[in-house]
Amino acid sequence: MAQISFNNVTKTYPGGKAPALVDFNLDINDGEFLVLVGPSGCGKTTALRMIAGLEDISSGTLKINDAVANDLAPRDRDIAMVFQSYALYPHLTVAENIAFGLKVRGIQPEKIARKVSDTAQLLELTEFMDRKPARLSGGQRQRVAMGRALVRSPNAFLMDEPLSNLDARLRGQMRAEIARLQRMTAVTTVYVTHDQVEAMTMGQRVAVMNRGTIQQLDTPRRLYDNPANMFVASFIGSPPINFIQADVIAFENAPAASCGEFILPLGASGDRLSSKIGEKVILGIRPEHLKIATEAGTRGAISARASFVEDLGATLLLHLDGHGIEIGHANMVEDERDLMKTAPKLKALVDSSYRISRDQMVSCTIDPGLVLFFDAQTGVSL
Ligand code: ATP
Repeated sequence: MAQISFNNVTKTYPGGKAPALVDFNLDINDGEFLVLVGPSGCGKTTALRMIAGLEDISSGTLKINDAVANDLAPRDRDIAMVFQSYALYPHLTVAENIAFGLKVRGIQPEKIARKVSDTAQLLELTEFMDRKPARLSGGQRQRVAMGRALVRSPNAFLMDEPLSNLDARLRGQMRAEIARLQRMTAVTTVYVTHDQVEAMTMGQRVAVMNRGTIQQLDTPRRLYDNPANMFVASFIGSPPINFIQADVIAFENAPAASCGEFILPLGASGDRLSSKIGEKVILGIRPEHLKIATEAGTRGAISARASFVEDLGATLLLHLDGHGIEIGHANMVEDERDLMKTAPKLKALVDSSYRISRDQMVSCTIDPGLVLFFDAQTGVSL
């Protein structure tokens, strides 16, 4: 079992324009399932490979169980890695693939047989033990790769996008499977993905990364409810959150958000904005928090045209053109401005019983208690 910590770790690749990791700090608890999530190039794989000993550290310290591990050889770390490409030996059977790592360590054959059999049972691979990888499905191959890592009883598991080659249904199944196995074995696991659904459903804690730094390290629930900034708010949640620019105004003696023609009274949740009256803020509204107003003229409702309707079965995803709702702000920092550009329309996820069709006008309300507020210049949560 392992406790792993990064202390001010920086990594600059030769010829790299910007460092891949910048002053990176992270403590991974013994037995924890920790997910590193973020867009392509944010440094997830670099961090993972450092734990495995496959990447040099430019500065800072990496500790495994309180001992500095910067220069520890990979074989002395007792860490198992599962990759996106399963890297199974094609000429070996499932049983031989699982046993391989134990054999090369010279472990007694009876002990190997017992461990392989226990692992195969855990992964429901017993009936495939004599098959070669070519005759297995993607999900079964993935389980063999897991088995090969699991059988070694390593200090820690490192997984780099292990499910990305599987179709959506299998991915969902394996997601639950890996999380279940990890909880059973309680082996410290660091899991890299760019898929926020995997991060949310599997991780006990999730580190959301961007440009070589951790933006927020938290439980999935807190990342969703209390994102530290617009980047985290936009990365976590599907479909992605809407950002609307608003002026904070005094309305009936309390702060309200004014977005063009639309005024949203904020009630008690506006208290934190009382010092911002006269300034601009960004509202974060999750598509699932917009509700269809059934009564005409509902106070604080956004009136909009459904320019496109995606029928998802149980829900409808509405693409709404709001009247006079301003998107974007010239003074915003570059990252946040990009976030606003990518969502020029307001999206609402509503129950399909509403039967809304394209070009229909709808009225949406939002519980002010569910609105997130961000600084218009820095994107930091208010
Ligand atoms: P992805 O999800 O695309 O795998 P990632 O978040 O895992 O991305 P890394 O692979 O850690 O990101 O890469 C971080 C940064 O370091 C990127 O800008 C990448 O181009 C750069 N990089 C990674 N490996 C090397 C290398 N061997 N040489 C030079 N630059 C590298």
